[in-house]
Amino acid sequence: MDTVCIAVVGAGVIGLSTAACISQLVPGCTVTVISDRFTPDTTSNVAAGMLIPHTCAAFAFLHDLSDTPVPTQKRWFRETFEHLSEIAKSAEAADAGVHLVSGWQIFRSVPAEEVPFWADVVLGFRKMTEAELKRFPQYVFGQAFTTLKCETSAYLPWLERRAIGLL
Ligand SMILES: Cc1cc2nc3c(=O)[nH]c(=O)nc-3n(C[C@H](O)[C@H](O)[C@H](O)COP(=O)(O)OP(=O)(O)OC[C@H]3O[C@@H](n4cnc5c(N)ncnc54)[C@H](O)[C@@H]3O)c2cc1C
Repeated sequence: MDTVCIAVVGAGVIGLSTAACISQLVPGCTVTVISDRFTPDTTSNVAAGMLIPHTCAAFAFLHDLSDTPVPTQKRWFRETFEHLSEIAKSAEAADAGVHLVSGWQIFRSVPAEEVPFWADVVLGFRKMTEAELKRFPQYVFGQAFTTLKCETSAYLPWLERRAIGLL
């Protein structure tokens, strides 16, 4: 049978994830990543790598999902959370730079949805207490939860190795 040859354009987190996924799903195929920039010179390399859906105005320019129904966004988020959780629990976690991280998300005004659609996907979601909020006098509302973080300095080279079949 002829070898299947597939080209992926772009070597940020999306292109490398796509290439790694195809390599796994199509055994024996040849995947070529075509790009003008590779890690560490992509936008993905400067991302904090926090897994949180951003519906707030500050990130609207990055992720305008207003045309995507919330149930679809939630399914995407749950699947991504579960996929990255498996990596975080595996022996690959340190190499991949994927781990759980707990923190606060603080707001200067109370958001329209105090409990966002993704609250039951992350771990331990709750509203911050008054005592916790007192540490941030400029802020009036906050959420506490545990989610996943991809350290991009490790995660992108790890994805690259998976994409070219070294892992
Ligand atoms: C400061 C900052 C912090 C962020 N923090 C987070 C965060 O915590 N969590 C989160 O989810 N998101 C975060 N983001 C957003 C995140 O970085 C992007 O959504 C993500 O990197 C997009 O990945 P990408 O692969 O689509 O794009 P990119 O990483 O930009 O990759 C695009 C690739 O395509 C190539 N390319 C583009 N045009 C061409 C062309 N014409 N010919 C050939 N190659 C081409 C580029 O060279 C590059 O390799 C952050 C962004 C910034 C700037």
